[in-house]
Amino acid sequence: MPSLVNPEVEMAVKGFILDQEKMAEVVERMTKEMKMGLAKDTHPRAVIKCFVTYVQDLPTGKERGKYLALDLGGSNFRVLLVTLNSDSDVETISKSFEFPKSLMSGSGKALFDFLAECLSEFCIENGVQDETLPLGFTFSFPCQQQGLSKGILVAWTKGFSCEGVVGKNVVTLLQEAIDRRGDVKINTVAILNDTVGTLMSCAHSHKNCRIGLIVGTGSNACYVEKTVNAECFEGYQTSPKPSMIINCEWGAFGDNGVLEFVRTSYDKVVDRITPNPGRQTFEKCISGMYMGELVRLVVIEMINKDVMFHGDKSQKIQKAWSFNSSYISDIESDPPGEYRSCNKVLNELGIIGSQESDKESLKLICEAVSSRSAKLCACGLVTIINKMNINEVVIGIDGSVYRFHPKYHEMLQFHMRKLLKPGVKFELVVSEDGSGKGAALVAATAVQNKPKI
Ligand code: BGC
Ligand code: MG
Repeated sequence: MPSLVNPEVEMAVKGFILDQEKMAEVVERMTKEMKMGLAKDTHPRAVIKCFVTYVQDLPTGKERGKYLALDLGGSNFRVLLVTLNSDSDVETISKSFEFPKSLMSGSGKALFDFLAECLSEFCIENGVQDETLPLGFTFSFPCQQQGLSKGILVAWTKGFSCEGVVGKNVVTLLQEAIDRRGDVKINTVAILNDTVGTLMSCAHSHKNCRIGLIVGTGSNACYVEKTVNAECFEGYQTSPKPSMIINCEWGAFGDNGVLEFVRTSYDKVVDRITPNPGRQTFEKCISGMYMGELVRLVVIEMINKDVMFHGDKSQKIQKAWSFNSSYISDIESDPPGEYRSCNKVLNELGIIGSQESDKESLKLICEAVSSRSAKLCACGLVTIINKMNINEVVIGIDGSVYRFHPKYHEMLQFHMRKLLKPGVKFELVVSEDGSGKGAALVAATAVQNKPKI
């Protein structure tokens, strides 16, 4: 049976194909970049920063107490109250707040005032405004940490660009906003990356968990390194604790040009219309914030060439960012030859009168973008596993792309197996509530490790 997909479409998506050889090359280059981030002398010019997180304890199951948590940096902003009653009894109350888009590019003060306002509202609603609870702040942006409760924002990612925050300690900014209100008492004991919360939360139930991965709005991973290898940590040679979680910040991989061999012309267009052009190259090939736009750009080119949707240019799809990445998951969820979800997406985009060949073409474009994403993620995980030099590991994962894409898990697993040395065993596990339970577990280590006076 001849393919329903127009050959022009097949040509257009060719650039997204990564063969085994290219994947091996990605692993090799990424290995080099990660080593540079970790080593003290090369860290300042490294692209993959491999930040020290100051989290040196994995959960023991003995953590107890009541903690507040904030979660900023994904698709919504949340405040949580987590009570660790026992290792199997964790209570979480949480509230999502509508995050006004204008705050993403406004002043830092407006952003932190909003966070403090939501926090205060939440504490009052839950009757804890008079307790001085320890708070874990999941702040999912690249931070240079100088302690468990001190993180300097290095750069905004994922569409944020608030003024006056880069170069500052975000814990101080949060604390000042809380103090400006004066209606709640909060003690921010830890700032953590979402990958770290994801690892900790998963490690609470899977004792072999050593890697945390996010494939959501953005993408990044963290892993457990030997403290002696974490050269950027002042105490790396003398620390009594053998481990240190490293926040790789792998999204920046390629910012020095080493990924040009996997990028397409579409990637370059996407990069140009973001607030951080030239930054987060790897992330822009992988994560949910950008996948939909990549698909849209290919579709628009096909419309302009009159090979899809009758060349109809009057659609909503003409608008940048109008193609949500969740549409990719929807479209790929349809069984072969059926178009229920696809029709729904086309309907939302105001595209009428499409033919079966249009739908098959659209599906092929989605598959091209999502499979490249999964392959690159597999490369990243394999790089980390090789670096750790272990034979067995559990990887805790969160993020909308991993959770909702129908084939992401399978693709990731398949390509990791193909790239890893034979005999290396791994398990990919969805990590529940990294920014709730995970943040509380990090806050608990912070409270427990405080020297007693
Ligand atoms: C940020 C990381 C974060 C990742 C996933 C990236 O844009 O730089 O810190 O872990 O997104 O949320
Ligand atoms: Mg999140």
